Amino acid sequence: MKTQTPKVALVTGASRGIGAAVARRLARDGFSVIVNYAQSAAPAEALVQEMEKSGGRAVAVKADVSRTEEVRRLFDAAETAFGGVDVLVNNAGIMRLASVAETDDASFERQVAINLKGTFNTLREAATRLRRGGRIVNFSSSVVGLLQPTYAVYAATKAGVEAMTSVFAKELRGRDITVNAIAPGPTATDLFLQGKAPEVVERLAKLAPLERLGQPEDIAAAVAFLAGPDSGWINGQVLRANGGII
Ligand code: NAP
Repeated sequence: MKTQTPKVALVTGASRGIGAAVARRLARDGFSVIVNYAQSAAPAEALVQEMEKSGGRAVAVKADVSRTEEVRRLFDAAETAFGGVDVLVNNAGIMRLASVAETDDASFERQVAINLKGTFNTLREAATRLRRGGRIVNFSSSVVGLLQPTYAVYAATKAGVEAMTSVFAKELRGRDITVNAIAPGPTATDLFLQGKAPEVVERLAKLAPLERLGQPEDIAAAVAFLAGPDSGWINGQVLRANGGII
């Protein structure tokens, strides 16, 4: 019997938080995984070792997704390690909350550079390099629906990601590749928890009818669906994974 070569998943921002949970889950589902990170080398390497111990195949690759050349080298590294890429999960992102009046240029530019241009950079590489039958999962956020004060710039970058998702799905006509976005609600990671008082976290956790925060594994399960065989007829869509908050 011919053994099937494992599919390859590239997860951006996989050193911590949701990205690390996605990498773990996809490794469990049989993917070889590229664990991308920008700064957190030690957690990324530890995650790779953990996945290898459980029988998975993984490599950690440093690349700032906002930099075109580094993203090109990230795909090069994936091809060198595992021969190609089947699944791209555009998880890397940052959030800097402030009213429009109080947002400085640096904060605006960094959020646009990582969340929007970072997603664009990997999509542009994927356009020519993702293998037939592949899957792309971009990261939006449920704040695109909630639209609360202080979220203007962050939500704008994620609305841009949603727009690119639908357009890119159409541009890949004929390649048998689906392009979808996931839009988590409040999820227990550094990005959400940092700088919030426990009462604020408690209040936000209770907003969803399921009355708890999302866990990275909740989001990873939804990403695994969009990255796997069962989502083959879902294309150009945004899946809100938020316990019913909106
Ligand atoms: P997190 O815990 O802060 O982790 C962010 C990850 O992104 C880290 O692995 C970080 O790696 C990486 N990263 C940051 N800048 C990068 C860059 N320039 N290039 C490559 N990697 C970079 O965040 P999270 O909560 O897991 O968020 C993951 C995604 O979900 C983001 O797109 C976020 O907007 C979205 N999201 C989160 C929530 C939530 O409530 N947590 C809700 C909706 C949407 P380094 O440490 O190496 O920099």
